Amino acid sequence: MELVRKNIRSVEAYVAGKPIEETKRELGLSSVIKLASNENPFGPSPKALAAMKKAIGEVNRYPDSQSFYLKKKLALALRIKPENIVLGNGSDELIDILIKTFVEDDETILTSENTFVEYAIIARINNKKLLTVPLKDFRYDLAALKRKITAKTKLVFIANPNNPTGTYVGKKAFDAFLSGLPRTTIIVLDEAYDTFIDVKDYPRGIAYLGKKNVIAMKTFSKAYGLAGARVGYAIADARWTPYLERTRQPFNINLVAQAAAQAALDDTAFLARIRRETLKGKRFLYDSCTALGLPYVPSVTNFVLIDVKRDCREVFKALLKQGVIVRDMKQYHLDTFIRVTIGTEAENKRFVRTLTRIIGRQHSR
Ligand SMILES: *Cc1c(COP(=O)(O)O)cnc(C)c1O
Repeated sequence: MELVRKNIRSVEAYVAGKPIEETKRELGLSSVIKLASNENPFGPSPKALAAMKKAIGEVNRYPDSQSFYLKKKLALALRIKPENIVLGNGSDELIDILIKTFVEDDETILTSENTFVEYAIIARINNKKLLTVPLKDFRYDLAALKRKITAKTKLVFIANPNNPTGTYVGKKAFDAFLSGLPRTTIIVLDEAYDTFIDVKDYPRGIAYLGKKNVIAMKTFSKAYGLAGARVGYAIADARWTPYLERTRQPFNINLVAQAAAQAALDDTAFLARIRRETLKGKRFLYDSCTALGLPYVPSVTNFVLIDVKRDCREVFKALLKQGVIVRDMKQYHLDTFIRVTIGTEAENKRFVRTLTRIIGRQHSR
């Protein structure tokens, strides 16, 4: 233990959503649904599945370390150059690559409280200092963030939309935030949920390419239904990407994942269906919360933060016993909140049915 570096000893372990298999095993349940990790409940696109099956026979070979065809396809779809793209083993790895590439030992990283915990964990693993400001009304407080920025602030991580709150910062506020920042500060927009956005004033990081120190991170883990394949990408200035490329592991995107992501990009009909189903499910969850008298935070993502108005850990456990996995927000000090991923219609109904029973029971006590 004392042989382990200090920063590693003090790092908090990432708490993943409870896996379905583990829950079945531990609680002896035969039917379990998981609404805990903002995954796509409809599976991968059939096109991606077929491409993966085809690719799997070639895994005796190393994958293309440049992911040439995937980058080419992405560049075409996004109307940028392949030189503007860096692929990561999920955006989780991109966070690590960005910190390793940009942040000197005496420089700092800035983000919000109650946001994606990986920024803090990966900063700590890299022995870099991370500062935070509180959220304001469940939203990133850009004014407070800006007040904290100094010449030593190298990276600012903004999850837009934010996880676990589902809120976003609008274009006007973001543009005001960008103006007058030090030339040595880079803003990283983590756009893991951008596919679900249904508002007009959402600032897309790609629009700032070549104009501002903004890097966008995206992922195939959420709307595209490829969380298990591990593909994310950063969109960044071509002056920076060669260095990001040097930092990453040469074979970070495996052969099956490269094939899956390429095919997924082709299946626009699948993506449209996911968006439709997610919106429908979200409206159902909103209506159900209202009927139950439970406040929720309006979300532009595929998950909803719900105030269950009682200890969230207890509600989490009661739901789990009934085979419904959600996230309780104890870790975020939102002690009465749970975060629920929008599932299939049947899953959403089962969640609401189970929650209604639990809350009714606690009421009558
Ligand atoms: C889910 C999520 C990610 C995605 O991580 P991957 O490593 O690409 O699976 C990134 N950022 C946020 C805010 C997320 O919620």
